[in-house]
Amino acid sequence: MTGTHTIRWVEVGTLASGLPLRIAVHEINGERAGPTVGICASIHGDEVAPVEAIRRLLAELSPADIAGRLVVAPVVNPLAFQTHTRHTPQDMQNLNRVFPGDADGWLTEQLGRAFVDDFLQDLDVLLDLHAGGALATVDYAYIENDEALSATFNTPILYRGPGYEGTFSAEAVKRDIRTVVTEFGGGLIADVAYIERTVEGLRNALRHVGLLDGDVVDFGPKEIVDELAVIRPHHGGLLVPEVGIDMIGTAVAGGTLLGTVVNAQTLEPLEEIRAPFDRSLLVLLRGVATRIEIGDYAYIIGNGADA
Ligand SMILES: [Zn+2]
Repeated sequence: MTGTHTIRWVEVGTLASGLPLRIAVHEINGERAGPTVGICASIHGDEVAPVEAIRRLLAELSPADIAGRLVVAPVVNPLAFQTHTRHTPQDMQNLNRVFPGDADGWLTEQLGRAFVDDFLQDLDVLLDLHAGGALATVDYAYIENDEALSATFNTPILYRGPGYEGTFSAEAVKRDIRTVVTEFGGGLIADVAYIERTVEGLRNALRHVGLLDGDVVDFGPKEIVDELAVIRPHHGGLLVPEVGIDMIGTAVAGGTLLGTVVNAQTLEPLEEIRAPFDRSLLVLLRGVATRIEIGDYAYIIGNGADA
């Protein structure tokens, strides 16, 4: 068998504009037998760094390097990617809360159904790549159903707690596909380093599951947390941070000031955001002053008490 790299399209339907709604899937068939591994990114359209990590990985890979089959969808929600938004602009839905989707539902539900039915076919392993979006930087991986797979990524924190309903990874876990969700980068400030770290982690994960040859790198001990607090402000405006992205992955004492929301016009302080746990692990934060709305993701903090 000769290895090949082809692109096929998951067709969803025709948009009002007349353009097709469809998702590109790269298929790289190796020259030797091995596992079928899926990699996907930009289920949330503002998560761009993982797309570049995928581009770099595929540029380096030759089918001759591969045992098995790699299926890769760099942009699962092209409409949200187009507008650089987390949700699909046409129906305001969050694709990663509507899986497995609905063939007769909203646009986003139809997209989700078509992608599940196609992409999860025959997968042994799923690597689902996320990031912090346009404004926030994040650094952790989920433990879904294979802790050793999660540990192949070089991140200081693994999260073992409950996930959200309707995620793509939950569909994969239901099908007994070995699954990891990574959350690396976003917010632009350190994205070059995060992209390099994502590529490094992807190659390590692919060695771990036997798709690539070579020894698995041990990136050292990680903190495993069972509880993450998503901190959403009660006022919008400008979020002025007190902790920088160099602090991600480290712990601060409970009550430490993380940032202040100020009225963007009057400049008066509206809300102080403080570390919620006695030992608070910084998982997601914003490295510079950014516009924020009521209820947006401001911080994600891990409970480091039993980590
Ligand atoms: Zn995401």
